[in-house]
Amino acid sequence: MAEIRGFLKFKRKDQVYRPVMERIRDYREVALLPSNEDVERQTLRCMDCGTPFCHWGCPLGNYIPEWNDLVSRKEWYKAYQLLSLTNNLAEITGRLCPALCEYSCTLEINDEPVTIRENELAIIEYAFKNGYVKPNPPLKRTKKKIAIVGSGPAGLSCAEQLNRKGHKVVVFEKDNNFGGLLRHGVPDFKLEKWVLDRRLEILKKEGIEFVKNIEVGKDIKVGKLLKEFNALVLSGGCRIPRDLKIEGRNLKGIYFALDYLTQANRRVAGETIPEGDLIDAKDKRVVIIGGGDTGSDCIGVANRQGAKKIIQIELLPQPPLKRSSNCPWPSYPLLLKTTSSHEEGCQRYWQILTKKFLGENGKVKKLVCVKVNFEKDAVGCFKIKEIPETEFEIEADLVILALGFLYPQKEGLIEKLNLELDERGNIKTNLQFMTSRKKVFACGDMRRGQSLIVWAIYEGRECAHHIDTYLRI
Ligand SMILES: Cc1cc2nc3c(=O)[nH]c(=O)nc-3n(C[C@H](O)[C@H](O)[C@H](O)COP(=O)(O)OP(=O)(O)OC[C@H]3O[C@@H](n4cnc5c(N)ncnc54)[C@H](O)[C@@H]3O)c2cc1C
Ligand code: SF4
Repeated sequence: MAEIRGFLKFKRKDQVYRPVMERIRDYREVALLPSNEDVERQTLRCMDCGTPFCHWGCPLGNYIPEWNDLVSRKEWYKAYQLLSLTNNLAEITGRLCPALCEYSCTLEINDEPVTIRENELAIIEYAFKNGYVKPNPPLKRTKKKIAIVGSGPAGLSCAEQLNRKGHKVVVFEKDNNFGGLLRHGVPDFKLEKWVLDRRLEILKKEGIEFVKNIEVGKDIKVGKLLKEFNALVLSGGCRIPRDLKIEGRNLKGIYFALDYLTQANRRVAGETIPEGDLIDAKDKRVVIIGGGDTGSDCIGVANRQGAKKIIQIELLPQPPLKRSSNCPWPSYPLLLKTTSSHEEGCQRYWQILTKKFLGENGKVKKLVCVKVNFEKDAVGCFKIKEIPETEFEIEADLVILALGFLYPQKEGLIEKLNLELDERGNIKTNLQFMTSRKKVFACGDMRRGQSLIVWAIYEGRECAHHIDTYLRI
């Protein structure tokens, strides 16, 4: 490092957000980019550990201490070169990754970790600004063709890696635009879509072909693709939502989180939603069931739409603020997360079980809830126990179910290919990412279940590596 004891001299400087009153009036990104000088100073906090646990914590194996070192010496171009070796979508992880690496940074033991994710974002944005990120088509083409189903982060990374090897790659997307959950799941205030379009332009110029509005298995036969392509990649995501099948579930005004977020993103993109299909929080009492990140995204959207009141409830107990002894460094801890959306205004409650929905004229009006405890049974499994006489009601005009995702859609592709599934209902593959059908591969959420962008990129890259080996044998 340019300064060996930088971690003693400089404190961590956290990401700065736009003021709440300003940002809830628009859908622009809430986080601000730090100045280059600030980033150079923050990289000086890296101790360049002999055994860098951050590198172990990042699924992509990003060369974190190395690019911290380069930035600390103002060698931004070299830092970009190193970052792009392992990460196809650094401008996306730099904005959206939960920074698994930072929890395994050695400074996390008794200080605050290095701002790894922000340094990553600063490097890639510096690279874009200075024209370093250019289309880099392969010098030679093989005669192999690969069809990729789905243009989320797994499909995009897989496509870029295979294209770099000289293979012809065609990405099929059933949606009206590319990017998967990055396009229509993640709200613009976390990721403005020009960021995605900027990357897609580069991928197109590198020679990858993108086809939209085509659902493979419906608009185009899988058999046709199997005949025309040397390999088929399934990276269609994992979108079947967990439901809450209780009394009153059929009342109007109760929606799945992804339906709400997708529609909101489409509206921000300028699409018109028919009046009768509109899900809007304006002047409504909104209850979000599910305390995770998807629920938090719904809070951000509801606030921007002008909700009267927002309550987020969660069945599980409130996570701890700090690591507990059963979750020591360098493992990734489950801690209480207060996101920028939470800061914008909402009430949060834990250990709440929803027992039924009550309505008037077919529309939801209330939730009947009860407080719960978790007790261990004879075999040590936690069981939910209702606390007597704690039943209460919450008034609601709009209820969003953000209870997670179960498995990928079976109808269509999976059924037609008669693919073997794992015990959780995701596509089963061998260690080389090949499914139970020869020349059909799977990666991303469709293979590992709903996960993270960084894991989707990892899966796409690994899958591409194994396809390339398979095609060359
Ligand atoms: C609301 C929300 C917010 C999230 N925020 C974050 C975050 O901040 N940070 C983070 O790390 N992770 C986040 N995640 C998780 C992350 O987005 C996913 O893990 C990641 O997008 C998975 O990538 P994927 O490529 O496997 O699938 P997806 O992104 O789901 O993409 C799959 C694509 O395949 C297409 N497709 C499916 N079937 C077909 C077919 N038959 N023919 C053609 N196309 C098809 C779909 O239309 C879709 O575009 C979030 C998830 C959600 C739901
Ligand atoms: S991709 Fe995520 S885990 Fe990896 S270095 Fe970047 S922020 Fe850390």
